[in-house]
Amino acid sequence: MRGLMQDRPLLISSLIEYANQYHGDVELVSRSVEGPIHRYTYADAYKRSKQVANALAGFGVREGDRIGTLAWNTYRHFELYYGISGMGAVLHTINPRLFPDQITYIANHAEDRFIFTDLTFVPLLEQIADKLTSVEGYVVMTDEANMPETSLPNAVCYETLIGKQSADFDWPKLDESAASSLCYTSGTTGNPKGVMYSHRSTVLHSFAVCTIDGIGMSSHEVVMPVVPMFHANAWGTIYAAAMCGAKMVFPGAGMDGPSIYQLLDEEKVSLTLAVPTVWLGLLQHLRAESNKKLPYMQRVVIGGSAAPQSMIEAFEKDYDVQVIHAWGMTEMSPLGTTGNMRAKHAGRPYDEQIAVKVKQGRALYGVDLKIVDDDGNELPRDGVAFGRLLVRGPWITNGYFKGEGGDVLDADSWFDTGDVATLDPDGYMQITDRSKDVIKSGGEWISSIDLENDAVGHPAVQEAAVIGVAHPKWDERPLLLVIKQDGADVSKEELLEYMAGKVAKWQVPDDVVFVDELPHTATGKLLKTKLRDEYEGYRLPTA
Ligand code: ADP
Repeated sequence: MRGLMQDRPLLISSLIEYANQYHGDVELVSRSVEGPIHRYTYADAYKRSKQVANALAGFGVREGDRIGTLAWNTYRHFELYYGISGMGAVLHTINPRLFPDQITYIANHAEDRFIFTDLTFVPLLEQIADKLTSVEGYVVMTDEANMPETSLPNAVCYETLIGKQSADFDWPKLDESAASSLCYTSGTTGNPKGVMYSHRSTVLHSFAVCTIDGIGMSSHEVVMPVVPMFHANAWGTIYAAAMCGAKMVFPGAGMDGPSIYQLLDEEKVSLTLAVPTVWLGLLQHLRAESNKKLPYMQRVVIGGSAAPQSMIEAFEKDYDVQVIHAWGMTEMSPLGTTGNMRAKHAGRPYDEQIAVKVKQGRALYGVDLKIVDDDGNELPRDGVAFGRLLVRGPWITNGYFKGEGGDVLDADSWFDTGDVATLDPDGYMQITDRSKDVIKSGGEWISSIDLENDAVGHPAVQEAAVIGVAHPKWDERPLLLVIKQDGADVSKEELLEYMAGKVAKWQVPDDVVFVDELPHTATGKLLKTKLRDEYEGYRLPTA
C-alpha cells in the first residue's frame, strides 16, 4: 500500500520563495568587492534572483546548462545561487585560488556557457579566456560606474544586465533529482573531479544544517559564512539560510583577522564558519589587540581541517564562544558530522569535554558511517580501532561528473572518503589522517594530524605540518615542519621535549625543521604532496 501524501519536489527555488514570503524583511549584509558595506533584504535578493533568471533565459540558457562563477561571498553571488539553479541551469562555483591551468581545465570540463566574475578575477580570466572553449560571454559582477575596460569577449556589466530584466519569473517545476550545482574537488592528486549536486540533495542537506544538533541555523541567528561560496557551497549555509530566514553577513574578499573582526562586531554575528587557518588569523588579531572581545558570537564552526585543541580552548575559554568541530567533504555537500556534546556531557569537567570536542563529531541524520580494514571488514566502534572511513546517504555523491574516476561506490553504495578514522561507542568519529598522509612506521600507523595538533599547542608555534620521511629501519618516520609565532622562539630540542610529553615515545617526530611558510591547497589545507616532494630524500638524524 502506498502512502497518500503529496509528492512535491524539493527544489532550490522553494527556499528563496519561502525566505521572501516569511523573512522578506531580514537583512543580508555584504562587504562588497567595490569596498562599501551593502545591505538589503531577502525580498530584494528574491526579486534580483528572478532578474538573473530572466537574463539567463535571454541568453538562451536552458535546463542543465552550466554557468560558472568566480566570486567572493557577497549578495550578488547569493542571487546567482538562486537565479541560476532556480531557472534549471547548473551553478558551477569555481575556486579562484586554483592555478589558471586548473581553472581552464575545470571550466572546459564543465562546458560552462557563461561565467559571472567579480572584479577581482577579471585579470585572471583575461589570461585564460582564449583557452575557454565553451564560454560564450562574461558577466562582470559590478555596476556601470565600476565596470573595467576588459579584453574579455562579450563582457557585460551585471547591474546593467539584470537592471533591464523583469522581476517576474515562474520557476520551472523541475524534477527534484535534476542537477542544480557543480563543485570540483581541488584535486591534490590528478585532475579535479566534479561533484554534481541535485535540488533534492541540496534541500535535504539544508534541513540537516538547520537541525540544532547539526549546525543549528535558525531565524534567531546572524550567520557569517567565511568559508567561501566557491568551496563546497559555503558548507550549505547559503541554502540553509533561506530555509530558516537567518540574517546573513557576507565577508566579501576580507578574510583577514581585522576585516572579519569588524563584521563580527558591527553586525553582531552569532554563528560563523571557516577553516582553522582563518580562525588562526582572527585569534592572532584578538591577541594583538587585547581589548577586543567577541560578545555577540555564540558559536563557531571549524572544519575543513582538524581544529587543534589549543584553538578550541582559545575560543571557549578566552572568548566564551562554543566551538562546533565539523567534518565533511565536497562529495558530501559537504556536511557529514558535527561535534555537538550529548546531553550526558553537560556538567562534566572541561578536560573530559575537550576530549570529545577535538573529535570531528557525530553523524547527522542521513549520513551512514562505518570504518573498515583493508579487506573491507567492518571494524569495531570502540574509539580505538581505526580504518578507512566509508559513507553513504542522500546528499553523498554517486559518481563524478562525466564518469571521471569510474565507479566510486561499492556494491552496498558505500563511498570511500579517503580518510582514516575511529568511531567511539557514543558515535563520535575522529579523523586519524587522510589515508595518503598517515605515517607508516615499523608496521604501526602514526597520525600526522595528532602530531600537528600537539605541536600547535606550543605557544611559540603558529602552524605545523608533519610528513613521513623514508627511514632505513622503520620505513617512514615523522618530520615536523614548523612556522614560529611572530617574535617567539623555541629550539628543536625544546619542541621535541614538549612533544614527548604529549604522545607515545615512538610517535615523537625524528626531526624538526623551522620554515617561513607552508604550502596550502586552494581550500586552505596543508599541501602535503608538495611537502613530501620537497623533503624526499631528507636525511633524518636517526637514519
Ligand atoms: P578539497 O577539495 O580540499 O579536498 P574538501 O572540503 O572536499 O576539499 O576536503 C575534504 C577533506 O578534508 C576530508 O576528506 C578530510 O580529509 C578533510 N577534513 C574536513 N574536515 C575535517 C576536520 N574537521 N578534521 C580533519 N580533516 C577534515
